[in-house]
Formats: sequence, C-alpha cells, structure tokens
Amino acid sequence: PMDWINEKAKTLRQGAIRAMFDKASTMDNVISMGIGEPDMATPELVCRAGNEALEKGITHYTPNAGTPALRRAIAEKSNLKGVGYDPTTEIIITNGGMGALSLLFLVLLNPGDEALIPAPAFLSYGSCVHMASGVPVFVPTEQAKGFQPEPDVLERHITPKTKLILINSPQNPTGTVYPRETLQGIADLAIRHDLIVVSDEINEKIIFDGEEHISIASLPGMRERTVVLNGFSKAYAMTGSRIGYAAGPERLIAPIYCAHQYSAMCPCTYAQWGAVAALRGPQGHIADMVKELDRRRLMLLDRLAAMPGVSFVRPKGAFYIMVSIPGLGTPMQAAEFLLDAGLAIVPWDEEHLRISYANSYENLSIAMDRMEKALRGRF
Ligand code: PMP
Repeated sequence: PMDWINEKAKTLRQGAIRAMFDKASTMDNVISMGIGEPDMATPELVCRAGNEALEKGITHYTPNAGTPALRRAIAEKSNLKGVGYDPTTEIIITNGGMGALSLLFLVLLNPGDEALIPAPAFLSYGSCVHMASGVPVFVPTEQAKGFQPEPDVLERHITPKTKLILINSPQNPTGTVYPRETLQGIADLAIRHDLIVVSDEINEKIIFDGEEHISIASLPGMRERTVVLNGFSKAYAMTGSRIGYAAGPERLIAPIYCAHQYSAMCPCTYAQWGAVAALRGPQGHIADMVKELDRRRLMLLDRLAAMPGVSFVRPKGAFYIMVSIPGLGTPMQAAEFLLDAGLAIVPWDEEHLRISYANSYENLSIAMDRMEKALRGRF
C-alpha cells in the first residue's frame, strides 16, 4: 500500500547523476565525466594503518564521537588547528561528511525551519534538510559573477524561520572558492540575524591558481556559531572508508553525539585508524593529486574555450566545471546529445551541466574530441 511510506520519503527522488549513470552503463564506450570522487587510490600508508588495526584486533565500537586519537589528530593537524577545537568536546567523527551533514540537520532544525543554500549546490543538501523536516531555500548565484554568493541576495531570503546558512567552498559543483570578502559578508549576515553557519570544507585541499582556502570559523565572532564539516573522501581519496567529521562549539556538537548514539553509533573503527595515519603521515600525495587534477583542469578549460556554444566559469577548486550549452535545449537534452556522442555529463539544474574531471587525462582528451566534433556538427 502506498501509505506505508511517509510523506517526506515519498518526495525523495534518485538524483540526476544516478539516472544518467544508469543509462550510460547500458552503452558501450562512453567516457564518464560524472563521478564525484577522486579517481586516485587511497594512499598506501592509510591502507596499511587500517590493515594493522584489523590485525591488532581493533575491530570493536569506538566512542560515539569517534576514536580520541583521530579527534586529537584533527585538532592538531587539520587546517582547523588555527581555530583551536577541543578534541574531547568540539569534534565528532562521522560516517563520511554525509553522516555529519545529516545528523547536524536532525539536531538543528525544527519542522519548517529554513536553511539558506547558495545554488547551484551539492545535490544532497536540499534532501538532507528536507529529511530533517527543514525547508531548503536555494538562493541563486550567477554564472556571470563566478557563482559567488552575494550577501545582500542571501539577506533578502531571510525570514523569521531562517535558522542557518549552508556554504561550501571550494564548491561542488561550480569550483567556486569564496574569497575573504564574501566570507566576511556572510559572517556579518549570520551575526546580524543570529544564524548558524554550516561550512562544508571537504574540498579545502583541492584548490588552484594560488587561491587560499579560508574557514569562515576563523573570522572574528564566527567560531561560536559555525559548524565546519570535513572528511577524508577528497584529500585522501578515501570515499569508501566513510570517515568525515564536524567541528564546532560544544553547544552545537554535543547534541550530535547523542544523535550518533541512536543512529550509526560510530564510524568504522579501522578506517578511523587509517585516517589518523592520513593526517599524521607525509602529505605529499595531496600535492601530487592536486597537480594532476590541475593538469586536467587546464586542458579542459583550453578545449572548452575553443568549442562553439559552450560557456563556463574557470573553477578555482574542487574537480568540476559547470558548463552551459543553451543551444542544445535543456541541460537534460544537452546531456542526452553528448551521451550519444560518447561522453556522460550530469545535467545539474535548469541551466547547467557539471563536468567532473575525476577521469584520466587521456580519457578526458578523447571526451573533449568527441564533444568538440559533436558541437561543431551542430553549431
Ligand atoms: N560535501 C560535498 C560538497 C561533496 O561533494 C561530498 C561528496 N560528493 C560530500 C560532502 C560527502 O562526502 P563524504 O560523505 O564521502 O565525506
């Protein structure tokens, strides 16, 4: 019977990414530019540390907040060290950044509370807010302005129900890196309207063109009202290990400990030991990964610039490029046209498609040849 499923769940849909990939998987010789995870392998020393933990029999539950060694490593070694979080009361380890995100909304949002989300945004944000009985309020950003959120536009969307602003820099899907002025504008807004800021910094290490990642938690007056989300999926290519974390003031983090106790309990124990090794070990592989991603990014930017009908913004971080090809119709129609040409790109919103460059340089080159040929045939 239909009403076995509650009203909230009935509105959830599989994302466009899944649908696209289900279709692409039935076709031969399609190059995927849709994946949202680094194609690199998890660094060997991380795997070794996870294995060692298993061999030592470290296979039981950890505290709901995660293993103290990992919380200490995050407090001491991550970019948050400057903000100075107490590893015993202000950091929680979760099942990926997604675990932190969903628990956070569960403990923060009353039914009907609104979360402001600059859009285009990571697809999970709206659904996570919705599952927690909140209301996602997408605040548009403009391609012509590099998809930078504008504090005065955000402010116009604030209502008495607004509880938080969810930001993401470097951003998925646009590659936008928020400069200090943007962050300061958002901080001023949050302080003026007494809002919480949730800052998803999972792409902090994947940054180009000499840009600098700044955590909004480090701006004056923001530590007490910010929750930083981060994880090991991107910088350490550990998507399958499912280790993420949230850091913030105790009054925002403590309720998550309980929510964790009554949901997942704790993240995978031995993967947490892999994460300790990731933070405490040499960091050279991050630079190697970013260098390779940058090589692909620059190639794609050159190739796209030479194609008719395509517009885009030069991304400064993450590993995506948002493109607009209005001459092909809707983004869904454009994606289908490109799929027929042999490349899979995700239709993101009403205007854009997202290219991910988590694929080899060689494959991406072939994909660009196919795209250019198809577009030249059309325009
Ligand atoms: N935030 C953003 C912006 C992401 O792109 C992703 C992964 N695609 C996540 C959070 C979640 O990552 P994970 O749960 O693997 O840590």
